Amino acid sequence: MCNDKSELIGSPQRRQFLKTAGVFGAALATGGVSALSSATAQEPPIPKNDIGGDEALKRLVEGNKRYTNGDITPADFSSTRAALAGGQNPFAAILGCSDSRVAPELAFDTGRGDLFVVRVAGNVVTQEGIASLEYCVEVLGTELIMVLGHDKCGAVKAAISSVQSGNQFPGHIQNLVELLKPPVQKGLAEKGNVLVNAIKANVEWGVQGLQQASPILDKRFKAGTLKIVGGIYDLDSGAVKLVG
Ligand SMILES: [Zn+2]
Repeated sequence: MCNDKSELIGSPQRRQFLKTAGVFGAALATGGVSALSSATAQEPPIPKNDIGGDEALKRLVEGNKRYTNGDITPADFSSTRAALAGGQNPFAAILGCSDSRVAPELAFDTGRGDLFVVRVAGNVVTQEGIASLEYCVEVLGTELIMVLGHDKCGAVKAAISSVQSGNQFPGHIQNLVELLKPPVQKGLAEKGNVLVNAIKANVEWGVQGLQQASPILDKRFKAGTLKIVGGIYDLDSGAVKLVG
């Protein structure tokens, strides 16, 4: 397993830290993974972020404990400014809700360059979101993705309302609601609070969706070089509870 892992770009042993986005674009255009392996490599901008999925999850959990305890790390822009100007190697990726009260960088007490964050209302999985995460995993070498929902989510509430009453939302909002309908229907079929059920089901739906996202994320997940987990942020306490 270790030998197999060492052959994969993105593993700690062979991470490639690309100097420019232009290199990424050129690499994908000329053959994807094999092309990426020949790109210019450099030292990881933040050496402590060069960790696997299990260690990354541990760091998120510990950071969230500091956050809820009010023991957050003071921001230090100057210490990483020069290193991060030349590249990035976030230790975790987050697919979270756009809700202004749920800021992953704060909730996990992380600094610049630590998290690669995709945010969209209802933390739904979209093609563009998958593409962003593919970049993070394939090019930046990140080995952990967390789908982060939260309690009292307005997007999930809207989807429940749409399913129950059949009402349509204006503008593009209905597109979002449609993406949330499958987990909402699962939540409706379960016993207990519908909103609580649907929020949990939506996180699980997102985790499963990313685990099966072909051809990049699913391959890494199956190979054991990518961990994909779910979490739910509690607005009152700030605590993130792992799901599944
Ligand atoms: Zn939300």
